[in-house]
Amino acid sequence: MSDSPVWHPFTQHGLGEPIPLVTHGEGAALYTADGRRIIDAISSWWVTTHGHRHPRIMAAIAEQAGKLDQIIFAGWTHEPAESLARGLCEVMPAALTRVFFSDSGSTSVEVALKMALGYWLSRGERRDRIVVMQHSYHGDTIGAMSVGARGVFNQAYEPLLFDVATIPFPVAGAEQRTLDALEVVCRTGPAAFIVEPLVLGAGGMLFYSSTVLAEMRRICAHHNVLFIADEVMTGWGRTGTLLACEQADVVPDIVCLSKGLTGGALPLAVTMASEPIFQAHYATDRARMFFHSSSYTANPIACAAANANLAIWRDEPVRERIADLARRQQGWIDSLAGQRGVRGARVLGTIAAIEIEGEDGYLSDLGPRLLGFFRERDLLLRPLGNTVYVMPPYCIDDADLGAIHAAIAQAVEAFS
Ligand code: PLP
Repeated sequence: MSDSPVWHPFTQHGLGEPIPLVTHGEGAALYTADGRRIIDAISSWWVTTHGHRHPRIMAAIAEQAGKLDQIIFAGWTHEPAESLARGLCEVMPAALTRVFFSDSGSTSVEVALKMALGYWLSRGERRDRIVVMQHSYHGDTIGAMSVGARGVFNQAYEPLLFDVATIPFPVAGAEQRTLDALEVVCRTGPAAFIVEPLVLGAGGMLFYSSTVLAEMRRICAHHNVLFIADEVMTGWGRTGTLLACEQADVVPDIVCLSKGLTGGALPLAVTMASEPIFQAHYATDRARMFFHSSSYTANPIACAAANANLAIWRDEPVRERIADLARRQQGWIDSLAGQRGVRGARVLGTIAAIEIEGEDGYLSDLGPRLLGFFRERDLLLRPLGNTVYVMPPYCIDDADLGAIHAAIAQAVEAFS
C-alpha cells in the first residue's frame, strides 16, 4: 500500500498500480519525477485542447493573479467574467443569450437541469421528467448521475437518483427506434431532453449521425420540450466544429460547456441558456430567482484563462490544427480496416476510437492491462474497457501521434 494519503478518482488503490508523479507539462507532453516523457494522448481527460501550458493562457493567468484572485459573484461582477460572457455570446449560437457560470462539467449539467425545471414552474407547470439517452454520461454529482447510464458507476447511490425516461442509443440501422421512443415520451410532457451531441464519450466513444441529432432537436421543439446539449466533451472543436451541434444545424435551448473552456488550464464551466429561460426567472419576486451558486462561481483567474482560450480561437489557426489532426486520425482509422483484432474503428473530428476483440465491459480485466501496457510505453491513454480512444491536444505533432498509433497497434497484437 502506498504511504500517500491521496485518494484518487476512478482508481482502485487495491490493485497497487503505480501512480506516476508528474512534475511539468508542455504541449502534448508530460514529464515525470523519474525523468520520463509521457505523451498525453487524451488531453488529460479531454481538457487541454491547445496543449499544456499554452503561453497565452499562462500569461493571462499570471496577469489576472496580479489583480484580483476571487470575488463573490452574487450581486458583484468583474471584467474577466463580463468579457468572457460577451465573448461566448459572440461565438456561440445567437439564441443563447445568457451565461451562467459554475466550476465543472457536472455542475454545468446540474445548472441546466435546474434551469429547465425552474422554467416550467415559472410558467405554472410542474414538469420534472427528464429524457435521457441510453449509455450517456453527464458527470458524477447526484443530478448528473441521475441523467446518466445506470450501472456499476452509480449502483451504490441508486436510492438518491431520480427517475428519468431513457430512449435507446441510435445504433446504425435502428435510428428510427430512437426517434420513435423520443416522440412517444415527448408526448407525455417532460421538462427536457439532455443529450451528448454526436458522441457519447464515457459511455464508450459511441458515435451517431448528425441527421439523428437534427431529428431529435426537431421532435423536442415540436412537443415543446427543452433541448439541453451537453457539449462538455464535444465542445471546443473536439468533433471538428466549435460545437458538435453545428454539424446538425441544431441550436439547443441550453448548452453545457467546460473542459476546453479554459483550454484545460483551470476548472470553469458555463451553462448558456436562451432568453426565454432567463426571462422565466426574471421578476421582482425574489422567490423566482435562480437558486444556484457555489463559492467560486466565475473565479476571475479561471475566467481570464477562458478569455485567453477565446483569443487563441480568434487569433491562431485552431480550426486548421483541428482539421489537420482530424485528417491524421482519419488516415490511421482507415489504415486499420479489416485488421485482425480490431472489432470496430471509428473517427469523428479529432476523436478516434477502436474496439479491441476480446473481453467487453468497463470492468473487464482488459482495461487495466491495457492501461499498464500503455504506461510502460510512456503514453497517457485510458481505455474504456476494450475501447481505446485517442483524443490528443490539437498541437500534437506527427511523431507523437505516430507513436500513439503504433503502440495501439502493438496492443491489438498483444491482447486480441
Ligand atoms: N458531461 C460530459 C459529456 C462529460 O464527458 C463529462 C466529463 O467527462 C461531464 C459532463 C462531467 O464533467 P466534469 O468531470 O468536469 O464534472
